[in-house]
Amino acid sequence: MTEHYDVVIVGAGVAGCAAAIALTQRSPTAKLLLLERKTNETKPRYRIGETLPPHTSTLLQQLGLLESFQAQGNMPAHGTRAIWGSETLQEHTFLYSPYGHGWHLDRSSFDNWLISQAQQRGVTLITGQMITQQEYYADSWSIRIADQSISAKVIIDASGRSAHFGRSQGSQIIKLDQLIGIYRFYQLTDDNNNHDSYTLVESNPFGWWYSSYLPNKQLVVTLMTDSDIAQEQGLLTEHTWTSALQETKQSSQRLIGSEAITSLEVKPAHSQHLSPVCGTAWFATGDAASTFDPLSSLGIFKALRHGLIASYAADDFIQGKSDCCKKYQQFMGGEYRDYLKTREDYYRVEGRFDGELFWRRRGSGGLL
Ligand SMILES: Cc1cc2nc3c(=O)[nH]c(=O)nc-3n(C[C@H](O)[C@H](O)[C@H](O)COP(=O)(O)OP(=O)(O)OC[C@H]3O[C@@H](n4cnc5c(N)ncnc54)[C@H](O)[C@@H]3O)c2cc1C
Repeated sequence: MTEHYDVVIVGAGVAGCAAAIALTQRSPTAKLLLLERKTNETKPRYRIGETLPPHTSTLLQQLGLLESFQAQGNMPAHGTRAIWGSETLQEHTFLYSPYGHGWHLDRSSFDNWLISQAQQRGVTLITGQMITQQEYYADSWSIRIADQSISAKVIIDASGRSAHFGRSQGSQIIKLDQLIGIYRFYQLTDDNNNHDSYTLVESNPFGWWYSSYLPNKQLVVTLMTDSDIAQEQGLLTEHTWTSALQETKQSSQRLIGSEAITSLEVKPAHSQHLSPVCGTAWFATGDAASTFDPLSSLGIFKALRHGLIASYAADDFIQGKSDCCKKYQQFMGGEYRDYLKTREDYYRVEGRFDGELFWRRRGSGGLL
């Protein structure tokens, strides 16, 4: 027995859920399958990637999610404080943003909430499974998921930075750098009265720290550096990471009155893009299409936007519009070029460490 779907979406992260929800708006009769390789049991309880800029509300509104999102009680984010380019702490407030404040999320809860929103709109969810075989023949995908046979008109690859489906179609990941995030979550005790609603960023010779207070009286602290520098400096060990943190002027202050609740974890955070980003009857979206440096705080915003755009492309393809992959490729290429320019501008501002490898690689002080 083959189960027929209009669109199969690989990966139930932010981009996959946004694509599914947008498709329910655009073609209410379409049959949609969201496929997630992890289960609630295999997902990490504490997930990094938690700050949303204020303008995300426009996308949540467009997806019909804003009211429910606001009812989740996420913590307001009022801006960024940074030691970047000088010793002075600088404040970039959202006070003047036309969209109001941003948010600090409990990221795991946010991802689960998005999945439930897709399910409430009639999207079928399969968890704990992956596609094991796929073939495009006579205008349709034949795919295998465990012992099930499934057909689909279009596949959306929202599998995150592994771009699992796109790579199975011969696309390649073009990696720009080797940035990683080394992070830890903390629980605040009652003695910690410091907690403000700002993300704190603090540069150092081998990269930069960021930290945010989170809902449920938690704190996340992350060191962003290159994987080879982390190895050479021993920054993957708790002892060296903690000593480096204690040397910071501002970030270390946030730890007063807090206890570590996770061990040190490492996540890849390099910039990359998939080439080509689409092909016959498939489109990559979210981190599967491109990843941005966490300095931008734009990963979730971009995943929501990509989900919307992938839904337009998939629908256009089903309607028989022949140029949809070309248009999709043009949009994604332009967005990535704009991002690279912005990234360069941000790193150039920090000129104090321009002899250091991490900063030389990023053209610090205008040396690129
Ligand atoms: C250190 C760090 C800090 C960050 N901080 C921020 C931040 O503060 N703000 C922000 O906006 N962004 C941040 N980001 C980026 C943000 O987390 C990502 O951009 C965002 O999660 C991308 O969403 P996505 O849905 O494309 O991918 P993901 O969230 O990675 O989701 C992909 C999903 O696909 C599933 N999957 C993978 N392969 C398969 C397969 N073969 N079959 C089925 N399912 C599969 C995965 O299990 C996962 O659920 C940060 C990233 C890092 C590394």
